Amino acid sequence: MTETIRAAVLHGSEDLRIEDVPVPEPGPGELRLKVDVALTGGTSTKVYRRGYHARMGKPPLRFGHEGAGMIDAVGEGVTKWKPGDRVVPANSAPCGRCRACERGHTAQCEDMVWLNGFFAEKLIVPARIAAMNTHAIPGGVPSGTAALSEILAVVVKGHDRTPARRGERVVVFGTGPLGLVWVRILSADGAHVTAVDPRQDRVEAARAFGAQRAVTQVDDAANADLVIEAVGTTDAWQHALDAAAPGGRVHFFGGTPKGTTVELDTQRLHYDELLLTASFHHTPYHFAEALQLLAKGFLDPALLIQEHLSLDELPAHFERAARGEGPLKASVAP
Ligand SMILES: [Zn+2]
Repeated sequence: MTETIRAAVLHGSEDLRIEDVPVPEPGPGELRLKVDVALTGGTSTKVYRRGYHARMGKPPLRFGHEGAGMIDAVGEGVTKWKPGDRVVPANSAPCGRCRACERGHTAQCEDMVWLNGFFAEKLIVPARIAAMNTHAIPGGVPSGTAALSEILAVVVKGHDRTPARRGERVVVFGTGPLGLVWVRILSADGAHVTAVDPRQDRVEAARAFGAQRAVTQVDDAANADLVIEAVGTTDAWQHALDAAAPGGRVHFFGGTPKGTTVELDTQRLHYDELLLTASFHHTPYHFAEALQLLAKGFLDPALLIQEHLSLDELPAHFERAARGEGPLKASVAP
């Protein structure tokens, strides 16, 4: 009889099942990770609702892309890692050879390897991720903290492109986990940060991350030196443009559904000299930087990870999350 482990499998839109699957064996270059902690979050909820992700994959899909644990087996040829190592594998690794990679745009790699499946007792880390984008967890750093590297890395990369200057007026649209991490990093720049979210209960959380103002109305937020859009709807993209002061910068961070468009006021763009930037995902460099920041206590994990669940509680968690209810993030101990 084959040994099995339990794993969450997404079969389509809002159809998540906990199943028994065979214990995977690591192939050449691969690692097998015993998962300590996997995290839920806004992107996972988006994938749960849509039933797929434009870049990460189609159903049936092993689910969960943020997590950390201990290596319990390594494949042939692995010398960098050994069983017993505590690591946080990133959820992707670029090829390093395509035109996008050669020009340093590794998040746009034409041949990205993705990793999903952290909501499981064990998972296989692909060879390229094992070699290029798996990181040793510094001693004393809990797995749940290390698992936040993924979302922090996405923000660190966006912030590299569009930082704030001391004293600038910054508006962050959206106070999901990513928006809140933006608030934290821009506050650390010394900016005056206003968080905007239509839900009063959600927006108030931004104060603990360093926001000086937390408002539910877009009108309150106009005339910003820098606007961060971290919602991922075309309405929010439009509001972000409206909120920028003459000479302001707008950073589009939230991914929108395929085929959607926004209108640009060309006069405003030209005469007000707006600078529009965007960012997607992370790179191995930013992932390593994020883990170092977390090890130094840059973020209080408890502000984001508000619930602790078992694997069996996961489908009910996502049912709530799809309705906009529940914690910012939950940790799952499989
Ligand atoms: Zn590439």
